[in-house]
Amino acid sequence: MDERKRRLVIAIDGPVGAGKSTAARRLAQALSYTYIDSGAMYRAMGWKAIHAGVGLHDRERLAGLALSTDIRVVAAPEGPRVLVDGQDVTSALRTPEMDEASSVVSTLPEIRRRLVALQRAMAKEGGIVMDGRDIGTVVFPEADLKFYLDADLTVRSARRLGDLRRMGTPVEREAVRAEVARRDERDRGRETSPLTVAADAIRIDSTALDADGVLRVMLEAVQHVLKPDNS
Ligand code: C5P
Repeated sequence: MDERKRRLVIAIDGPVGAGKSTAARRLAQALSYTYIDSGAMYRAMGWKAIHAGVGLHDRERLAGLALSTDIRVVAAPEGPRVLVDGQDVTSALRTPEMDEASSVVSTLPEIRRRLVALQRAMAKEGGIVMDGRDIGTVVFPEADLKFYLDADLTVRSARRLGDLRRMGTPVEREAVRAEVARRDERDRGRETSPLTVAADAIRIDSTALDADGVLRVMLEAVQHVLKPDNS
């Protein structure tokens, strides 16, 4: 096979505000790959639970919802759109309410099982960059390339605060820091697919690195993997 045409599966994991989605989107763009934000799928499940009136701790009903809900991520010129049972909910997913709902429902094994199956189906052809918490460890343990992106809590909270303020959400610095720490703790402490660093992941600390710097490190790693003698 012509190595220049090899289309990789690239996993990016890390905690809230580490810069995963910016890095994943830009890396996918640079390589003409598809970017899939797995967090948006957990947010979509949280959205569905709230709109179906299902309690976020009602495991039985949530398990049923996971099986009966159709979640799709479709490419669009202005960025991927998330459809829940055919309804475009993309603009409703980035609120503090959905931060919390996705964080809670993502602890349920039934929900994870369903979303992991959908995520794997999306990567069949390769040429994909997916970001999340369990992409390199559970979704694609055989990924061609894995990154674990991290940064200091203070920097990550400041990024999250900036995102929320840009969207016009009135929030306090301390409340955002506490929320980021709580979501991290839930991701790291849950029984099913906790957030951990895959043994073969390349760790990048973005505390003092801007988005260009992160992209540079990632592209170097991609070039290395695509070298003909690394097939
Ligand atoms: O990445 P994002 O903040 O949009 O993800 C929303 C929530 O979904 C996270 O707080 C995390 O708890 C959960 N998540 C997950 N596994 C993934 C992606 C996201 O548990 N692969």
